Amino acid sequence: MSWIWLRVLLAVTLALAGGLVGRLLGLGDRWALTGALTGMAVGMLVFIIRDVWRGHQLLRWLSGAMGGEPPRMGGFWGEMATRVERALRSRERGAAIERDRLAQFLSAIEASPNGVLLLDASEQIEWCNALAADHLGLDRHRDLRQRVTNLVRAPAFVTMLQSRSFEQPVQISQPGGSGLLSVIVRPYGEGQRLVLTQDITERERADAMRRDFVANVSHEIRTPLTVVAGFVETLTNLPLSEVERKRVLALMAQQTQRMQSLVGDLLTLARLEGSPRPPSDAWLPLARLGSAVEMDARGLSAGRHRLNFDWGGEVELAGNEAELLSAVTNLVSNAVRYTPEAGQIEVRWRQRPEGAGEITVRDTGPGIAAEHLPRLTERFYRVDGSRSRDTGGTGLGLAIVKHVVQRHGGELLIESTPGQGSCFTLVLPAMRVRLPVTRLAAHS
Ligand code: ADP
Repeated sequence: MSWIWLRVLLAVTLALAGGLVGRLLGLGDRWALTGALTGMAVGMLVFIIRDVWRGHQLLRWLSGAMGGEPPRMGGFWGEMATRVERALRSRERGAAIERDRLAQFLSAIEASPNGVLLLDASEQIEWCNALAADHLGLDRHRDLRQRVTNLVRAPAFVTMLQSRSFEQPVQISQPGGSGLLSVIVRPYGEGQRLVLTQDITERERADAMRRDFVANVSHEIRTPLTVVAGFVETLTNLPLSEVERKRVLALMAQQTQRMQSLVGDLLTLARLEGSPRPPSDAWLPLARLGSAVEMDARGLSAGRHRLNFDWGGEVELAGNEAELLSAVTNLVSNAVRYTPEAGQIEVRWRQRPEGAGEITVRDTGPGIAAEHLPRLTERFYRVDGSRSRDTGGTGLGLAIVKHVVQRHGGELLIESTPGQGSCFTLVLPAMRVRLPVTRLAAHS
């Protein structure tokens, strides 16, 4: 409160000084009082002019005309300037903290895996993150303050906004894209709405694949099961001769074998999906793998084909022996099953100059038309369904081969010309191929 006393003191001093000057100037006692009063009035006027000037300076500073620093003044106006400056600085600090907080909050929403859109009470876009703009085909800056229903016209979305029933998410196709979005709307504040978008294309595709897979498995199992059930009924109700009975039992055995193969392949796929990557330091001799494959192939062909095996020199492969054996056996058994009698099947090992290894299975069978090649490794995809089933195929063989090869960091190449035969090549990366340790030592 020191400024009050200072002001009072200043006012009194000025008035007294004015009065004194007035009195000194006054000629004789007649004009002394008038002189003193005039002096006091002049003193007060100076005081008021000074006050007005300082107030004006302060107002100019407050209106921003004088830049950052407040005018340096003493007394009342000085104190006023200091206090106003202090209040402004503290408000600016508060605003800066709020701005930082808002920026952090917005960057957190920006990092959200969901698209976020804020609508005001009249459904105009107040703010949206980059993902929501991408999902809904919006321009983040140009489309601000635009009515969202003018830009996103998917009927399910518009109906949900208009009906104000926000309990269930709706699914809409991505405007201008091929994706599928799930959109959730939540009301907040005074009529505002929060819109969350999520890209569910992959999830839907995986769901559809799972549904297809279950439908395929059920179909594959139901067919032999129906046949077996029919034979059981026949055996129960009809008096059959010994020859007929044996024929029926043989057919039943064939169907049960088909179901067993299917379940076996399904379990193999499930194991491949659920187990860790094959070790890269468990080495097995290629020759051991080769002789097991050869034995299987000769048994399956039973002399009906010309078989040719060339396993090259001594090489070791790193990986899971059972998986690699099942992959190569699948390729060779396909070649045997699809190649007509007297056809030729060739199995070869080759090491590429950069170190990768290839096992090639080539046959002179019917070949496969180009349009089927990209889909051959899909589960249950068959070019010739009846030939596959007649020869005990499950439609899962190449899916298993592809899985095994990918788990070993390699790839499966397929070339085929209808009428001329097919060639399946299983490629293993260089890090999974080496000379046996004894040979390595001899080389060094
Ligand atoms: P499947 O158990 O039906 O043989 P695969 O997944 O092993 O199932 O093969 C998928 C399809 O690819 C087969 O149904 C068959 O039509 C075709 N295929 C595979 N290998 C050969 C081959 N060597 N020659 C001709 N067609 C083949």
